[in-house]
Amino acid sequence: MKLMKFGSSGIRGIANQEITSELAVQIGRAVGAVCNRVVVGCDTRRAAEMIEYAVVSGLLSVGCRVTRVNMVTTPTLAYAARNHDCGIMVTASHNPPEYIGVKLFNPDGMAFDREQQTTIEELIKDRNPELASWKDMQEVRTDKNAVSDHISMILSKVSIKRKMKVVVDSGCGAASLTTPYLLREMGCDVITLNSQPDGFFPGRGVEPKEENLFALQALVSSTNADIGIAHDGDADRMVAVDERGEMVSNDKLLAFFGEYEAEKKMVVPVDASMLIDAVLPNVEIIRTRVGDVFVAEEIKKTGADFGGEASGTWIFPKVSYCPDGVYAASRLVELLSSTTEKFADKLSSMPEYVIKRGSVLHRGNMDKIEEELLALNFSGIDTIDGFRLTFDDVWVLVRPSGTEPLIRITVEGKTKQLVDELYNKIYKIIKG
Ligand code: MG
Repeated sequence: MKLMKFGSSGIRGIANQEITSELAVQIGRAVGAVCNRVVVGCDTRRAAEMIEYAVVSGLLSVGCRVTRVNMVTTPTLAYAARNHDCGIMVTASHNPPEYIGVKLFNPDGMAFDREQQTTIEELIKDRNPELASWKDMQEVRTDKNAVSDHISMILSKVSIKRKMKVVVDSGCGAASLTTPYLLREMGCDVITLNSQPDGFFPGRGVEPKEENLFALQALVSSTNADIGIAHDGDADRMVAVDERGEMVSNDKLLAFFGEYEAEKKMVVPVDASMLIDAVLPNVEIIRTRVGDVFVAEEIKKTGADFGGEASGTWIFPKVSYCPDGVYAASRLVELLSSTTEKFADKLSSMPEYVIKRGSVLHRGNMDKIEEELLALNFSGIDTIDGFRLTFDDVWVLVRPSGTEPLIRITVEGKTKQLVDELYNKIYKIIKG
């Protein structure tokens, strides 16, 4: 068995090829070596139960106390972790249907950090767990209230000011049994799409991006709904469609949430749009490494009020350090219900920037590229994740991919000409 490494989103791969029940038993034993009480949940994937039962078996074999919450969203599991030493979510998030994975959470909803994941990896590698005596093996508990507890927590924090008509596209993922019910409890008129849990994901691609959401867009406009909501497979992500049926840019949604949530500080990744700075001139914008786990860690470290990523992850530390797409959906509906301004009008009032993203095949080292980048006449530099250089009215991020032999380029600026010029200049530097 090849040793799988935990990444910033836990461990993920193709079921029965990279992620096997043998590996899942090892993960269960490793987690059980450092945690005594563990809550386990899974998403709607075909391989989820196979992996879940194996994880539970591993946990029990080292004498761990296990509570199962069955099929839930990732934020539901992260919320359930508050009563345990750790939460284990069996999910492959927004990956295609053949994938499965495991993600580990602390009681405060924060995903395991690098150090904690390394500990688990080393315990798996050692393959020398201290197995429990038969007398110390525990019974598995089942908690059927995890979803309603999560919903009740959210209901205690949000309320709508007027009736809202909402279309929810759960993508046949774990949100199917959560978000539509929550919004109905809030008093919304809810129309569902792809809200039957199904591991074949027959309705649409699992990732909530525009090419997968044309049915949601059409349904929002044909039903004259106020808003459309879509999740990924485990609902830590949420994206929106405005009342015209147009996709809301996630950069704009990040700024929109920021206006209400961020009093002093807000955390975004280094590739976030300059729109955030323009819309929130009085908020300290902290940029960190790309990845929602890094955003969450930085929020905790700096005591920021809010943070998120343009992938559709929104982190409200007053609720959890886990990105909660279910809470984000209800909060968005609440905010829209409390204003008479049309969402589309609000969005079009925000500044528009041109953004261009691409990548260059590159296997060599970064030294020569770094040298040439540093010789450019920039006004600001951030090296927390690759090189982010700021010029007048345009910036670029040059970042080696963590998983492929690629260097990724993001350029954003006030005009297409500025963006194209800088993009081409950087492209030539990388090509050499
Ligand atoms: Mg996800």
